[in-house]
Parts: sequence; C-alpha cells; structure tokens
Amino acid sequence: MWGIIATWRMAYEGIEKASEMLKAGGDAGDAIETAVREVEDFPYYKSVGYGGLPNEEMEVELDAAYMDGDTLDIGAVAAIKDFANPVSIARRLSKEPVNNLLVGEGAEKFAHKEGFERKNMLTDRAKIHYRNRKKEIAQTEIKPYAGHDTVGMVCLDTRGKMTSATSTSGLFMKKKGRVGDSPISGSGFYVDSKVGGASATGLGEDVMKGCVSYEIVRLMKEGMHPQEACEKAVAMFDRELKERRGKAGDMSLIAMNNKGEWGVATNIEGFSFAVATENEAPVVYLTKNVDGKCIHEMASREWLDDYMRTRTAPLKEL
Ligand code: ASP
Repeated sequence: MWGIIATWRMAYEGIEKASEMLKAGGDAGDAIETAVREVEDFPYYKSVGYGGLPNEEMEVELDAAYMDGDTLDIGAVAAIKDFANPVSIARRLSKEPVNNLLVGEGAEKFAHKEGFERKNMLTDRAKIHYRNRKKEIAQTEIKPYAGHDTVGMVCLDTRGKMTSATSTSGLFMKKKGRVGDSPISGSGFYVDSKVGGASATGLGEDVMKGCVSYEIVRLMKEGMHPQEACEKAVAMFDRELKERRGKAGDMSLIAMNNKGEWGVATNIEGFSFAVATENEAPVVYLTKNVDGKCIHEMASREWLDDYMRTRTAPLKEL
C-alpha cells in the first residue's frame, strides 16, 4: 500500500507527482519532498515558498520541516530568507546528528554551505498584497494575521516507510522572527511509521498549545482510525481553547495511518485537501462540518477552475 495526503487544494499538483513516484515503488522521503517543492515553486500560492506573503517588514521568512517515521529523524528551518526550497534544507538537516532545527541567519548559513539554491522569494505580486494590506489596516481594523495557509503532508511508501513535511510563509504581516507551528515537531507535524502521521494548518499559536499533530498520532496508536482520531483531537482541543480562552484559532488537520487509511478534521468552513492512495487517484476534497463529523466531497471541476482563476487573476493596487 502507498498513499499521500496534504492540506489544501494547492498541494494537488505535488500530490500527482508524488503518487507517480510512489506507484513506481519510490521512497516516501523523495516523494514528499518532491510534492512540497512543487508547492514552494509555484508563484501564485501566496502562503508557501516563492510568492509567499511577507512579514511586517516586507521580508519573506519561511518555516519548513521534514520527519522520517522510520528513524524519527527531524529537520526544520524557521524564519529562513532567500532560499528556494526550505523543505529540502529541512530534510538535509534531519540527517545531522544534532543541530536539527535552525533559525534565521544560522539556517541561511547552513543552506549556503550545503549549496542550496538561493532565490529572492519576494515577488512583485506579494509586494502588491503587502501594500494593499497596509492600506486596509490603516483604513479599517482588519486583522493583520488574516491570510495564511501551510502545506502539510503525510506520506506512506510501498515498503511501509512514512514521512511528514510542512512548508509555509506563516502569518501574513507577522513580526520578524515569528515562528509558527509548522517547523515544530508534534504541533505542525508528526509521523511514526509504526502508527501513522498527521500535519496541521491554521493559527500556529493555537495549534502549538495542543501539540495537535502528536495528539492525533497518539490516538491512532491507541487504535483509532485516522478520521476518528482527527475529529476527536480537533473537537476536544477546540472546546478546550474556547472554555479557557473564549476563542479558538483556525485549526485543520490531515492524517494517514500505516495502512494508507486517512482522515481530516477542521474547525473552519472551506478547508480543502488533496489525497492519493493505491486505491484512489489524486483528488481534491472540500470539507463540511455536520453534527460534529467532518464530511468531505470531491471538488467540482468548476470549483477547481475557479480556484486557479482567482489565484492567478491580475492584482490591482488599491
Ligand atoms: N500554521 C501556520 C502558521 O501559524 C499558518 C497556516 O497554516 O495557516 O505559521
């Protein structure tokens, strides 16, 4: 059995590529890295990699992680600038005996020494988004943090090896140096080939409070199906946050176990995800919360076309 699942529609093309590799007996590490790089390289996805939205100071600072579910190796970078593929740097770091999570300048030095591709990740389109947002903030009380999304994935190969990876520009207009959940083990991602893996997108500050990805893996280890584990972890933690703090940030999780069974849960409307397994061609699903259950239906051709049209539409300066 092989399979791969990822947060958001933007992962679809990457999932397609990865599924070809997995079908041919490829490695879960290579497949997931290929899939995430595809998202990082696409300029119109404005929350991951090239074209990602900048921080308060108009710099694109990126977070990414990679985990190997066989060895439990973890590598991650946070607030890294000017490198094309943070996920590949994270994967490279996962092979180091120590110094596995590097931030800012230290991460950049490492990437430079290792010969990773340098790239100015701030696009003209992202600059327009930035200037427009500045104007909106000045005029209304719009939350600067609106506008974010992480690509988070879990992958299983035919040999039973599992991996997880994330990549994101984090929250739009974040403070310089702000790090979200995505490069933090147990929060943005976790995977254990003996059980399964999970990954998150949403408000990092809240996801981190519950180590939600780890919690889902833990529930799967107790015998829960990924769907049940995702629903339970998200519902419980959403309730917990509301009880203690009066509100809960956006939280959407995907998971897959080592049999290729998968699940998702979210506390928002309009969460989409992409999945492919030995039994299921690559597909994009949209979720709906009905009576405490997370229902998903296949995205229509119309929805998919419309998505791409709005992503790539010319952007006007306000
Ligand atoms: N989790 C990311 C962060 O807080 C953002 C997102 O997934 O929307 O950096």
